[in-house]
Amino acid sequence: MGLAADVTVVGAGVFGLASAWACAKRGARVRVIDRTGIAAGCSGGVVGMLSPHAPERWNETKEFQFQSLISAESFWREVEAVGGVSTGYDRVGRLQPIDTDRALGLAHERTESARTFWQGKAHWRVIESCTAGDWAPQTTSGLLIEDTLSARLHPRRACEALVAAIRAKGGVVEVGAAIDLQGQVLWATGVAGLKELSEVKGKTVGNGVKGQAAVFGLDAGGAPITSAGDVLVVPHADGTVAVGSTSEREYASADATDDLLEELIARACEVFPMLATAPVIERWANLRPRAKSRAPMLGAHPLHTDQFIANGGFKIGFGMAPGVAEAMADLMLDGKDAIPDRFRPEASL
Ligand SMILES: Cc1cc2nc3c(=O)[nH]c(=O)nc-3n(C[C@H](O)[C@H](O)[C@H](O)COP(=O)(O)OP(=O)(O)OC[C@H]3O[C@@H](n4cnc5c(N)ncnc54)[C@H](O)[C@@H]3O)c2cc1C
Repeated sequence: MGLAADVTVVGAGVFGLASAWACAKRGARVRVIDRTGIAAGCSGGVVGMLSPHAPERWNETKEFQFQSLISAESFWREVEAVGGVSTGYDRVGRLQPIDTDRALGLAHERTESARTFWQGKAHWRVIESCTAGDWAPQTTSGLLIEDTLSARLHPRRACEALVAAIRAKGGVVEVGAAIDLQGQVLWATGVAGLKELSEVKGKTVGNGVKGQAAVFGLDAGGAPITSAGDVLVVPHADGTVAVGSTSEREYASADATDDLLEELIARACEVFPMLATAPVIERWANLRPRAKSRAPMLGAHPLHTDQFIANGGFKIGFGMAPGVAEAMADLMLDGKDAIPDRFRPEASL
């Protein structure tokens, strides 16, 4: 017989680990179990951009994401302080090129709406590229959008940091079969969980969308993130720069990289010529868990009575993790349900 747990979490990706951590912080005895390994799924990745949706057409899901991004700094700093492992978190901001009149008009509109919706806690503004330093992306207008809400962390290390923090609070994180489900049970099993739901329900409740990314050996200091079209460039604290990400519904192998990544790398080198002379030190691929609603799937588990689910992180699982973790701890430990309707499993069933 193992530890008597108040909370058992199945799946040691960022949703499972962050939720376990939020429960451990509140004094619960937690046990996390993963059948393959810690961060063995898409949480073991390399990109780690934590960026907001555009500040417009505001709704409760955008508010949830905003609160998650705003709380990320204190969330990850506490994880680091308790476990002693760096997550690579820093709110470095993001730059995006403005290449058309339409993009410029939208950028000005969003500057105004960010004033309202972001409550003065972060800015979305138009700046001249010559003021943005060496790490400014190429732009035909000479103008860029700068947002000061975006941050980065290192996904794989953030998971290691969560494990260390959970263990420091007396929690257990282990690899093996999930047979001893004690206390409140949370299923955070990513693509496998969506597949099981789809099979039992006899329809597509969610699926895996493949993504590929690369890591360059280049020290960009605390430079901001850049997103230009489908190219994301994320400078990390450890002297590397991550470039992401492809997006594929159809694929032969979930974790093999191919020519699509090489094409992305070539486009990134066009946006940032300094990448062209840096070595690519890692190529990585995995499946993102995408719920049919495209939103996170949080709440009562549709198959397991009195158990819970946290899934559907899709492209923004790390950005949403602090909010998801606190919402799941509220629900499982205090019976407090503040989950937006669009995030409920029913939205994809
Ligand atoms: C190329 C790429 C780039 C990305 N970039 C970003 C980004 O910049 N910013 C961002 O926020 N997000 C990004 N994401 C998305 C992010 O990685 C995911 O949203 C997030 O990792 C999902 O976490 P998860 O815990 O739900 O799933 P996973 O990390 O997949 O974890 C699920 C875990 O459950 C385990 N498991 C499954 N079934 C069982 C079972 N029956 N018993 C026990 N264990 C089980 C698996 O082994 C796995 O470890 C990216 C993803 C990819 C692929």
